Amino acid sequence: MKIAVLRERAEGESRVAATPETVAKLIALGASVAVEAGAGALARFPDADYAAAGATLGAAAATIKGADIVLTVRRPAAAALSTAAAGALVIGAMDPYGNERDIAALAKAGVTAVAMEFMPRITRAQVMDILSSQANLAGYQAVIDAAGAFERAMPMMMTAAGTVRPAKVFVMGAGVAGLQAIATARRLGAVVTATDVRAAAGEQVESLGAKFIMTDALKDASGTGGYARELTKDEQAAQAALVAGHIAKQDIVITTALIPGRPAPKLVTKAMVESMAPGSVIVDLAAERGGNVEVTEPGKVATTAGGVTVIGHLNVAGRLATSASQLYARNLLSFVETLIDKKEKALAINWDDELVKATVLTRAGAVVHPNIKLDAAPAAKMEKPVAKAPAKAGASGAKAAPKAPPAADFAPAKPAKKAAARSVVSAAPAKTVSKPAAAKAPAAKAAAGSKAAAKKPATKKPAASKGEK
Ligand code: NAD
Repeated sequence: MKIAVLRERAEGESRVAATPETVAKLIALGASVAVEAGAGALARFPDADYAAAGATLGAAAATIKGADIVLTVRRPAAAALSTAAAGALVIGAMDPYGNERDIAALAKAGVTAVAMEFMPRITRAQVMDILSSQANLAGYQAVIDAAGAFERAMPMMMTAAGTVRPAKVFVMGAGVAGLQAIATARRLGAVVTATDVRAAAGEQVESLGAKFIMTDALKDASGTGGYARELTKDEQAAQAALVAGHIAKQDIVITTALIPGRPAPKLVTKAMVESMAPGSVIVDLAAERGGNVEVTEPGKVATTAGGVTVIGHLNVAGRLATSASQLYARNLLSFVETLIDKKEKALAINWDDELVKATVLTRAGAVVHPNIKLDAAPAAKMEKPVAKAPAKAGASGAKAAPKAPPAADFAPAKPAKKAAARSVVSAAPAKTVSKPAAAKAPAAKAAAGSKAAAKKPATKKPAASKGEK
């Protein structure tokens, strides 16, 4: 049983699908592991550490030859897999929507493509949830990026020279990334408010010590599987009216709002950005799917004429390549463990397992996933980012494409509806309702995985800390 780990080809992709820690565990399961030389370099995992863990290091050709399993961050090109074993499992973020032809090419190449972002969000599979692990880090990094661009202190500073007030941070979208952003901003001492369209998010926000704001007009827009549905025009107007007044008073706005299979809803208009004071910062974590902010330039950091910095980094989890790889690699390891007979130390795939059924896209030369419709390829494209994407599609062909709905019960994306959620600022103002705090915080679990090709993560890279959980 040979497992191969290739160096990621997508431009700007700094993560790696296995770490020395997970390589050692895969070997303990009975696998031999081949790692392409340099595969972990950008995530600060040196070849020597993989070798010490028991992997064989080599060129791509030797790494892939005869592999039964290929672990990957992004979808590899079919041509790169031609010498893998027949039916080899290729496991990673396949980003299939809008890329149906590439999935068909993988089928034709005879490999079994497994889309980790389709992992059902059930208890057993939480440990395999790449969307959660990566979104959690992205939420954290969003606050760090905001703090870096903010030319003031985040916490209240009481000094002999006087007091500096704490920064006001507003988080829009309180899913996995948003909850982590709230927690991080609170740890830095900011005064935090947050909004979401799912009523259940209110308790989670309050339990993290932030104030939840919600309009009376919008009671709950929960959709399928714990995700949000798209708002009606009236609901959008009510939300925009609420947000318009609030944003003008904020120092930092972090937007994370997503709707499965749809372009990111536009929540912050140009006028709202202009209402913010000079020196304010907006971080748009939805930049890969077009952005929540009208003026976001995906992949760029730009300052408006009014002095508001708008940060639209792509592949934000990749800016923390070491941590992101550690968690991603553990997600993959946990799934691979379910595919191996531990006594026989051999592959023993239960094709009827719900995790396998939900994630396998191709098998025995055919596209087998019900959500992947080959004739729907062009229709599945989403609204493109407003600015030119900084990174070319790499070997994975990854583009600024929709985040794939994580559960198999979502229909493939429909054609992008332009400005579907454009805010209507002139609507009647809605009341701000603060929800009562309740119960325990569901841990700020995280999401995100099949992300678009990104600009090379800037700034420092943390030294790899190994083996910690
Ligand atoms: P997501 O990435 O799809 O969206 C991010 C957030 O944006 C969501 O909270 C969504 O409600 C919100 N949003 C959408 N439209 C909005 C709008 N117009 N205005 C404001 N907010 C808007 O969501 P996610 O982070 O993947 O999490 C979705 C849910 O799934 C959460 O409740 C999360 O806790 C849950 N979850 C469950 C599991 C599990 O059970 N294994 C794992 C991870 C997440």
